[in-house]
Amino acid sequence: MGEKIAIDRIPVCGRIPHFNYKVVKQMYYHIWTIGCQMNVADSQRVAAGLERLGYTPTDRAEDADVMILNTCVVRQQPEDKATNRLNQLRSMKERYPERVLGLMGCMVGVKDPAPLRERFPWVDLFLPPSDPTELWSHLAENGKLSEAQTLIADAEARRLALGRTDTILPASEQGHVVNAYLPIVLGCSHACTYCVIPYRRGAERSRPMSAIIAEAHQLAAQGVRQLTLLGQIVDRYGYDLPEFGRSSETPLVALLREIHAIEGFKRIRFLTSHPNWMRDDLLDAVAELPKVCPHIEVPVQAGDDEVLTRMRRGYTVDDYRKLVARIRERIPGVSIATDIIVGFPGETKAQFDNTCDLLKELRLDKAHIARYSARPQTVATRRFDDNLSHEEKERRRKALDNLQSDILTEINARYLDETVDILVEGWHARRKRWFGRTTTDRLVFFDPVQDSGRDPGEAGRDTNRLGHIVPVHIEWAGPWSLVGKPAEE
Ligand code: SAH
Repeated sequence: MGEKIAIDRIPVCGRIPHFNYKVVKQMYYHIWTIGCQMNVADSQRVAAGLERLGYTPTDRAEDADVMILNTCVVRQQPEDKATNRLNQLRSMKERYPERVLGLMGCMVGVKDPAPLRERFPWVDLFLPPSDPTELWSHLAENGKLSEAQTLIADAEARRLALGRTDTILPASEQGHVVNAYLPIVLGCSHACTYCVIPYRRGAERSRPMSAIIAEAHQLAAQGVRQLTLLGQIVDRYGYDLPEFGRSSETPLVALLREIHAIEGFKRIRFLTSHPNWMRDDLLDAVAELPKVCPHIEVPVQAGDDEVLTRMRRGYTVDDYRKLVARIRERIPGVSIATDIIVGFPGETKAQFDNTCDLLKELRLDKAHIARYSARPQTVATRRFDDNLSHEEKERRRKALDNLQSDILTEINARYLDETVDILVEGWHARRKRWFGRTTTDRLVFFDPVQDSGRDPGEAGRDTNRLGHIVPVHIEWAGPWSLVGKPAEE
């Protein structure tokens, strides 16, 4: 990246109402993120804070003055990836000790990071999920910032402590990012026996509605067109907030109405739901509010009652079956996505077959299928024997995946020759097509008009469709995507 010296403009906020011009070293940051949408949202907020301090993003970790790894431990595989990445960065950190290396997210969790500090002594900072406060104080205390930047860092830390942020998307993403995620419930207190999330993200707590609405307004102003509200059990939003008191309405419904009123958003989604918390008024709100997409993500996890009991999910297969019928009855044209874990400890062949039968019966619109992975501290790891081999789990995953793929091929064939509204999310450089999604969350590619095949970054391009809703006439349908042409031209 050559000489990292530049004339940089440092915006000074708070007490000094003007801009300072100074000669400073150009500073770079690099954030590596894996895992769920919550991590994507957390990383964006860290990036925005770093950009307020004058840092510039870089794709190359080796050029970065600040490096953050935002991690996931929901299964062994993402945890291994993060560990490998940390090991790769060791020699670089030893060569350039002045660089800042931070580990963030579920690998750190909300408990004392002492054991991690011992294991990875070359890491400077251990940041819990959704809370980078320590990053700002570290940068300020270690003389890495000018006086003006320290003021900004302090303000950033204060804002986080108050549950507020002034800039949520990094400047590099504003106006280019169609989708944004907004965490509304942090942590989880459900304690499914396989799941490590409650141990890492702490107890369930809802964010105040005013803070969420303020962030939503900012995101709309920053160019976001589709907002997805996030929570481990998103439909439990607000039950712990005094502001909802004895209201008989589901708090998430009140929040959806407020967000619906914000101009700028074209689509609103929420995830993940839990079968026991999907009340009728929530389903009716999805049906009534035009911007709220008719798409529900509600994991079943297994199609067998005995397995569900040992997972401590709190419902039976028949409860789930009835829920799917209720969702379909109340939300016309709805699509339903689910998550399934195969190879849970002790899952017999017959129990696995019950899961296959349930998928065949319900014909859901998407299924994320994962092999069971024993996680530290969880009840399943402590009490049950992880008795199925990796090969057997993989065989079950594949069988279910093939089955679901056949179902989706049939369901998606219904879109052929139909025209569907697509919110355009980007340009696919390799396929030379625009892509986006239906309200029902189906991925759709479509051909550019006129200047076919041109990258939208090049001059003479097709009109920039990013963030627009385009009616697309579907000409090809596969299990994972659809392809068509804009209908209006
Ligand atoms: N809170 C959400 C999502 C949790 S994590 C929910 O209630 O579903 C996302 C998905 O990862 C889960 O739905 C589950 O299917 C999967 N998962 C969680 N723990 C797992 C484990 N130990 N092994 C395999 N998959 C797991």
